[in-house]
Amino acid sequence: MHDMIIENGTLIDPAAGRNGRFDVAITQGKISAIEPDLSKAQASKRIDAAGQVVIPGMIDTHAHVYQYVTGKFGLNADMVGVQSGVTTIVDQGGPSCMTIGGFRHYVAEPSTTRSLCFISCYLVGGLEGHLYPDLYGPGGVNKEHTIKVALENLDMVRGIKAHAEIGGQSRWGLDVIKIGKEISRETKLPLYIHLGQLWPTADSAEIPDADELIRELTPLMEPGDIMAHPFTRHPGGFVSSTGEVHPILLEAVHNHGVRVDVGHGSHFSFEVARIALDAGILPHTLGADMHGYNVTVPSGKADGDREANPFFGVAPFNLTIAMTELLHLGVGLEDIIAMVTSNPASMLGMEDEIGSLQVGRPADISVLAIDSGRFLLSDNSGAEEVSDKLIRPLYCLKDGIHHDVTSPLVPEAIAA
Ligand SMILES: [Zn+2]
Repeated sequence: MHDMIIENGTLIDPAAGRNGRFDVAITQGKISAIEPDLSKAQASKRIDAAGQVVIPGMIDTHAHVYQYVTGKFGLNADMVGVQSGVTTIVDQGGPSCMTIGGFRHYVAEPSTTRSLCFISCYLVGGLEGHLYPDLYGPGGVNKEHTIKVALENLDMVRGIKAHAEIGGQSRWGLDVIKIGKEISRETKLPLYIHLGQLWPTADSAEIPDADELIRELTPLMEPGDIMAHPFTRHPGGFVSSTGEVHPILLEAVHNHGVRVDVGHGSHFSFEVARIALDAGILPHTLGADMHGYNVTVPSGKADGDREANPFFGVAPFNLTIAMTELLHLGVGLEDIIAMVTSNPASMLGMEDEIGSLQVGRPADISVLAIDSGRFLLSDNSGAEEVSDKLIRPLYCLKDGIHHDVTSPLVPEAIAA
């Protein structure tokens, strides 16, 4: 006797090699059976998923949910998480060695969503740093303390976050990145590098060459490290000033185990995405990178400070819109599902716990609709495209508990 069966859906679970009609049973918060047909099995409740896609609970590898502490940046964890059909989120660089206790107490523990983080390599963490770039130099890093705190919090800290961009490089070169790499090595956690301009360049400095930054940075990356924002419209990303993907990055991704996270945010550009995908850059994971400057929060009002932010954005997006865009750009559905399930589980070193549906594991499950029609997609460079498919979250189960999609952060479909 199962508590619940989700039946008649199409199950896509890349790690388990399943793509087809499977029923999934849940008992006491865990998966209790996965079979092509459980119509004869007993269950207290049956949910019909005919015409829907059932996948392992989605994992958003790039969230900003250190609410209140990170100013306008931090969103509510459950709004980004279970209320959006996402069961696990990874805050990218919000908490630091100084503020991790608050993240655990005020975000990770009270949230229904499994809330993990990549700890900031900067003492101040992700405190609206674009406003205070001087806090992010080598003097604002304490390697020993960050290593100690990361190792003490490994249940929650799954990587190290740092920024490589020309504003920082104009002040300190790659010094902070090198310290970040030492923290990553000592903790055996991957290093996640933000690419694309974030901070203004120092007044006094010569503006560094964005392409040179990539050529100096890439050799520092090791297998399992992650480079983010491959589709950024800002300078200093994957595509060089002459319009092609840096050969050194292609080499790093294809032959040296360096991973790529979309980190959608307001960065995403259809034009840059096409160049990178055509060159063979297939992202490993698909972090949405939503924060209070690039999405409209429920209480948001007109705000000049917010609009002056380099990451202010108006094009509506979330994790499933990012999935829709990749589908529209020709990436296969199963590859896209892997980017929000098995691949992030591997990036987190948690492939034995999450990212695949297996009997006995926690029942973290996302259920999606894939609508057909004509849907308008846009990016923050002003480009508009019409997609004939739209991926939409319907509901999720987190540890077997049902959560409807109620988040105001899930954009409405726009008919084209
Ligand atoms: Zn971010």
